[in-house]
Formats: sequence, structure tokens, C-alpha cells
Amino acid sequence: MGEARRRRERMAQQAALAAGQAPVPVVRQSEVTPRQYLVQIADLMVKSGYGKEHHEAQVPCGGCRECCWFPRVDVDPNQESPERLAKLDLEHDAEGYFLRKRADGACIHLGENGCTVYEYRPHSCREFDCRRLTLTGTGIKFGHGHVTPVWEFPASHPEDQAILLAFRIGAAQAIKEDEKVDSGTIFGLAVRDFWKNLPMARRITAQMETMPPAASARLRSFLKRGEVQERFLELVELNRQRGATPAEQ
Ligand code: SF4
Ligand code: SF4
Repeated sequence: MGEARRRRERMAQQAALAAGQAPVPVVRQSEVTPRQYLVQIADLMVKSGYGKEHHEAQVPCGGCRECCWFPRVDVDPNQESPERLAKLDLEHDAEGYFLRKRADGACIHLGENGCTVYEYRPHSCREFDCRRLTLTGTGIKFGHGHVTPVWEFPASHPEDQAILLAFRIGAAQAIKEDEKVDSGTIFGLAVRDFWKNLPMARRITAQMETMPPAASARLRSFLKRGEVQERFLELVELNRQRGATPAEQ
């Protein structure tokens, strides 16, 4: 995601909040475990230049269309085939081309049964995967009462729990450094630091059974929904001080 788009996303989030819109996200159950999802996004995980490579997402959206209310869906004519461009209804301004909007804020191509140009939808739509936001305990408010859903990943296996935790440690650290950081940047930083954070995440989840019940319940709740909480940051700090090896720093 480019810097201009991050800025727009941040502005859209702030505008939605300022307008007093507080949409309640739908909770969706992920059929893939964190380990399986990691395999799906493996190319993002090994490329340090996240956002520079194209990655077609395979999101089981079901009936969800929330991201079609994204305030501005950019289209780069250099990335799209002439066939796709011919099907897309575009506007442009000084920053470039983007999909035209309906009066209610949805994309002009959104029909009653979903995207009417599905085969021709641009890269921005093909690559959007809101599960990445849940991985890092974040989401996007699009305005007009629309928001990315919250995904619950099945994570009964300790390694699945550790993977979730490693993403959320990276996210928590990104937010701690810059509380206004947007969700795309948070995901990029969490990916960058994932392998570094995984050993500590494994250690924390291994301790879960022996933690005081309240702490264990908090951690389980955090793993379920992934809200980045202040208490969680303290836990990360504590574990760093207690046992982080140089390789984890
Ligand atoms: S918000 Fe997520 S689940 Fe909903 S349509 Fe977009 S990618 Fe699919
Ligand atoms: S092109 Fe299709 S998938 Fe993309 S925002 Fe519009 S309706 Fe949604």
C-alpha cells in the first residue's frame, strides 16, 4: 500500500470517527487456522517489500461487501489490462484514477448480488484481504456505517496461538511507537518482525496453562479477537525483560 493511500485510509478512519459513526463489525469464523493462513500469505511473509508485490487474496467473503465502501479505490492503468480498463468506470484527479462512487458511498460496480465486474475488478480489490487486519488486531472503518469484519481463527493448537500472538506483538509494538499508525503499515511491520517475535510468542503461549486464571483468560480473549490492549503491551515488555534472548531483540 502506497503512502498516499495510507494517508487517505487514515483520513477516512478519522472522518468516520469524527462523524460519530461507530459501526459494529460482524464476526466471521475463519475456516483456515493461522498455520494454514500463513501458507496462503507465504509470499508476503518472505518478501520484505510488502505492498510492492501483487498478491491475489482468496478471501471467503460470503455475502460480505464491506470493503466496496472503501472511500477511494485506486486504479493504476499501468497495472490493468485493456480488457479490465474497458469494463471499469473510473474518475481521476491529480493523484490518479479511482473507481467511481454511487451516491450512497459504495463503488459504482456494486450490485445487489455483489461485484458486477468481478472478473475485471482492479488489483486494489483483488489484493484486499481483511483477515490480515484481524491478524494484527486492527480493522478499517469505511464510513457510511461500514467496517471490516473481525475474523476468529481456530487456534486450539499451541503453534496457531503462537502465530496469532507473534503478529499481535508486532502490531502492538508498531502502535506503541506511533499510535496514529494505519492498519496497512501495522500489518507490514508485523510481517517484517514476525519471525523475530515468534520465539517469544511461543514462550508466552507455553506459559498460558500455568498463568494466574485472570491473566490466562485475558490472553485467550486477546487471541480470540486480537484487540491491542494496554495490558498486553505490559505483558510483552515483561517477557522481554525476563527472558528475551539477543536473537529475539
Ligand atoms: S471486508 Fe473482507 S470479507 Fe468483506 S468483502 Fe472485503 S475482503 Fe471480503
Ligand atoms: S470493483 Fe467490485 S470488488 Fe471492487 S470495490 Fe467495486 S464492487 Fe467492490
